[in-house]
Amino acid sequence: MATSAPVTAGDRDSSEGYRSLVDPAEIFTYFTEKAWDVPQIIGSFSLLKDKLGIDKEAYGVSLYHSLKSKLTHWKAKTLWELLDKKVQLNEYKNQKACQGTSVCVVGCGPVGMRFAIEAALLGCDIVVVEKRPYFSRNNVLHLWPFTIDDLKRLGAKKFYGQFCAGSLDHISIRSLQSILLKTSLMFGVRIYFGIEFVKIKEPGGGRAWHADFLPSNHPLNDIDFSVLVGA
Ligand SMILES: Cc1cc2nc3c(=O)[nH]c(=O)nc-3n(C[C@H](O)[C@H](O)[C@H](O)COP(=O)(O)OP(=O)(O)OC[C@H]3O[C@@H](n4cnc5c(N)ncnc54)[C@H](O)[C@@H]3O)c2cc1C
Repeated sequence: MATSAPVTAGDRDSSEGYRSLVDPAEIFTYFTEKAWDVPQIIGSFSLLKDKLGIDKEAYGVSLYHSLKSKLTHWKAKTLWELLDKKVQLNEYKNQKACQGTSVCVVGCGPVGMRFAIEAALLGCDIVVVEKRPYFSRNNVLHLWPFTIDDLKRLGAKKFYGQFCAGSLDHISIRSLQSILLKTSLMFGVRIYFGIEFVKIKEPGGGRAWHADFLPSNHPLNDIDFSVLVGA
């Protein structure tokens, strides 16, 4: 039976080699430029938080500000300069526009993550659940010009140098998901892979809107939400 090798592009890395890194600047470079599959992106981001002394339970845009204050080398600064323009938009009211709103997004596809980023910038407490453990879809998406601009403002070029270079206007779903996952993590979105949404449950018995997720013992089953988005 034929076996398939891990899909990598260029020097993007699907290995576990990042685990031996200790210098936060190197981990940051690995996270932004090389990590490409879900375990490497999540794993290197978690390692980065750890080495910077950031609480592993820190979420929300305040996490972005912590990263920014602790990572001050030039490569990181160019990303902060770009993302600050987004974070500081008047519409987000310093991340207070939707403060106190808890949101659950079902689906870590491009739309779910792009929504999650927006909700985080508005100040929501946001969770994304994805039933698949990996990004595996190589179907190529055509991107409208305004989408390309939007993704560039979210750091796409920093995470993937070849992003829409020259006249290119397409990208694989998995590459787009990897880019958006990195931005989502930096903006403090909480993301759970391998968790399946089953059904929504109406308020009652002392609980607000909530949902059933698999596995049934996952803590998300005990959390109430103001908004649930199927993406
Ligand atoms: C074979 C094929 C070819 C395609 N080719 C193109 C193309 O060439 N160009 C194009 O623009 N589009 C194409 N598409 C459509 C493409 O999938 C979408 O454009 C894009 O993925 C839509 O993004 P999305 O975020 O809306 O949804 P999706 O990418 O579908 O994301 C939804 C996510 O939700 C997750 N999910 C679903 N149910 C649950 C649940 N109960 N609990 C937790 N997670 C859940 C899924 O695993 C998935 O990751 C193709 C689709 C297929 C199937």
